[in-house]
Amino acid sequence: PATIGIIGGGQLGQMMALSAKVMGYKVGVLDPTKDAPAGQVADFQIVAAYDDQDAIDTLAARSDVLTYEFENVDVNALAKHADLVPQGTKLLEITSNRLTEKTFIRDVAKVPVAQFMAIHSAKEFADAIGRITLPAILKTVSGGYDGHGQWSVDSEADVAALLADFPAGTLILEQRVPFKKELSIMVTRDANGQVVFWPIAENVHVNHILKTSFAPAVLSAADTAKIQQIAASIANSLVLRGVLGIELFVSDDHVWVNELAPRPHNSGHYTIEATNISQFEGHIRSITGLSLPEITAQAPALMLNLLGDEMQQAREDFVNHPEWHFHDYGKAAIKRDRKMGHLTVIGEENIQKLDEWSQTHGQR
Ligand code: ATP
Ligand code: MG
Ligand code: MG
Repeated sequence: PATIGIIGGGQLGQMMALSAKVMGYKVGVLDPTKDAPAGQVADFQIVAAYDDQDAIDTLAARSDVLTYEFENVDVNALAKHADLVPQGTKLLEITSNRLTEKTFIRDVAKVPVAQFMAIHSAKEFADAIGRITLPAILKTVSGGYDGHGQWSVDSEADVAALLADFPAGTLILEQRVPFKKELSIMVTRDANGQVVFWPIAENVHVNHILKTSFAPAVLSAADTAKIQQIAASIANSLVLRGVLGIELFVSDDHVWVNELAPRPHNSGHYTIEATNISQFEGHIRSITGLSLPEITAQAPALMLNLLGDEMQQAREDFVNHPEWHFHDYGKAAIKRDRKMGHLTVIGEENIQKLDEWSQTHGQR
């Protein structure tokens, strides 16, 4: 059978690998950590850094198709094997930098984003304040996740504090948008260029980390249509292959795109049990040139991330919760805020029970 090589061995790679395996593919993984989550379920793992050209060459030589499970892959190291990467390297170039990403969304896909400016120095930052009205958020342009590399700029005091010790590197200053809900939509295009969406999820973050995703989000028909149109516009502008996660903000009368993830997304884990085709199977189908049906959900679903110690509690309690779909990524080291696994439940009653469990046992 054909072999799919995945760069990155985290939980997204693991769930991609599991989907690929049942479809009869062989899977290879590149990750610096021995026995990484994806490595545990793959046919082989190459233990090396993500930008190790020799290791990428080896993975490419052993694979028929290459994909990645995160956006910080070394584009240059992968470019040599571009013919094996259906997602393309341009998608990575755009999404690995918040400035190129937001510029692309605004100018090419013609979709609204928060007002933003590039910042290269304390002086540019001082000049930008006033052009971008507070409150705002200063972010590093690359490498950030779970809110790492972000500074709130809500007041003149925040501005002064930042100016006194200004972060190095290229930054982006974004207006903080007055959203009512955070949403996401996963989208792909199949072998025929047909755009396929998963139901929209409503996401709750705690300390900048995704805590829960509920789907389908409760939205007006008009908002749903608008968001699907945004997703289609971005997917077509990118000539997308593979799954793209789109994070959005909505208020009563506005929709903004926050950021893109060139891969399946944490807020789409509910699709494993709640939709006819999971985002991971959809990803594998799209990159291997298969077709996809319309995606439907049978009932509302709630996904809860298990962070740090919550995993231990969930493992103990699982015996009393036949309604839980329990996912343990098999990470060796437990760390506060680390995504160790997740739970998904389907149906209103089970959703309420999971909410209660989370209130009682959730990480404080
Ligand atoms: P992820 O783990 O999703 O990759 P990240 O570190 O890349 O996160 P963002 O998604 O940019 O960070 O921001 C994290 C959170 O901060 C958002 O989910 C949202 O709650 C808030 N946020 C970020 N940018 C804005 C904005 N312009 N206006 C309002 N809230 C924002
Ligand atoms: Mg991000
Ligand atoms: Mg985000």
